Amino acid sequence: MPQNTQYTDAIMRILNQAGEPISDGEMMRLGEEIYGEDWKKVNLIRLKCIRTALRSVGVVTHPKRGSWGLTPDAAAQLDRWKAVGEGGIWREHLRLRDEEKQTIEPAPPDPPQPRGASILELTKTLVETWGPSGYEHRIRDLIREEVAALADETWLDGLGNLICRVGSGGKKVLIAAHMDEIGLMANYQEPESGYLRFTNLGGLRPDTLNGNRVQFEDGTVGVIAAQEGGGQALSDFYIDVQNEIGGNATAVGQPAGFMREMQTRGARIVAKSLDDRIGCVVAIEAMRRLNKSTPNELYFAFTVQEEVGLRGAKTAAQSLHPDIGIAVDVTGSGDQIRGRKMQVRLGGGAAIKVHDPGLVVPVAIKNWMIERCEADGIPYQLELLAGGTTDASAIQLADAGVPSGCISIPTRYLHTTSETVDIGDVNACIDLLSALLANPIEL
Ligand SMILES: [Zn+2]
Repeated sequence: MPQNTQYTDAIMRILNQAGEPISDGEMMRLGEEIYGEDWKKVNLIRLKCIRTALRSVGVVTHPKRGSWGLTPDAAAQLDRWKAVGEGGIWREHLRLRDEEKQTIEPAPPDPPQPRGASILELTKTLVETWGPSGYEHRIRDLIREEVAALADETWLDGLGNLICRVGSGGKKVLIAAHMDEIGLMANYQEPESGYLRFTNLGGLRPDTLNGNRVQFEDGTVGVIAAQEGGGQALSDFYIDVQNEIGGNATAVGQPAGFMREMQTRGARIVAKSLDDRIGCVVAIEAMRRLNKSTPNELYFAFTVQEEVGLRGAKTAAQSLHPDIGIAVDVTGSGDQIRGRKMQVRLGGGAAIKVHDPGLVVPVAIKNWMIERCEADGIPYQLELLAGGTTDASAIQLADAGVPSGCISIPTRYLHTTSETVDIGDVNACIDLLSALLANPIEL
């Protein structure tokens, strides 16, 4: 059995035998009880607690990410866990932790934490990095450094996609997460005032523009303003880049991205460009879990120019000839006041796409994902998106057709500077993607 399913299977078997599976939300709450509000430790907490609980029933574990092994008599040992019956792995951990304080035996060291191992830290770095559609060089350099040790080879294609191969033989799977973010480009300078007009790079929402700050590639900070009575169309807005002597600090032709720091509120992440930097995080963390071990031939593509027409995914799919395509991207949520009617909600788990205007997910792909979630106890929900699409709809049209699906992260306030996701959902997406790829694929 591949390493990664040993890990999740072991956890689920213990949870089931304890008779009371615990939701991600409850895990978070208990995690907070243990470690306070230091959310940077969220992943470490999961690993630590699982390891402690496994150790308590005599299961041998290796302190290396994604490679938990069971001793041959593990089944019998897991039965003993049932007798413990304290209601769940986390509550047992609390008890063991108190006991540990009184013992002289030193705890084993934490698993090594490679750079970016903290999902929040990595997310913050990626969302705050500048990279509007067509200008992804800075974000690409960061991701390339992050994945260098996690791939067998990496290269750039002619359009600028970063492709990372992991494994060889078996099914060829293309996993696409787009690096670009929505932005704009100054295209006209008003002759009298000098204010800049602009065109969009991706889908800007005029109702969210007024007062927003943007940064041009040359570093200039601009303020978007609406004309009096305006605000319905992009032509109603202008950008103020005036310096102290009345001239302009930048000129037409310069691209710009939005500026906003990432913040957290409990298990919620609020940031610009979670579309689709959080998808990049999911892909990177899945690569980290796999640690180059897979029976499949995986191509992780960090794509360019998704927001202006799925362009990067097209060239990636055309050149790689995959058997299967998976996009990892954000989707909307139906849990807002006056929001569109949609089943997806924050905190409901990984969203498995069924349909959007650009993609009818083949039943075999959808069921493959659902069955993996059911087998591993990964929380999931079905996604039916009424507007928008993802790289998967471009991948499906390559060659003679590529069966494609999408793992989506539920998101509020899409295409604004305060997109909002839930860490539990992000973890579920990482769990699902890595488990799908760690196993042989039969469709
Ligand atoms: Zn997207």
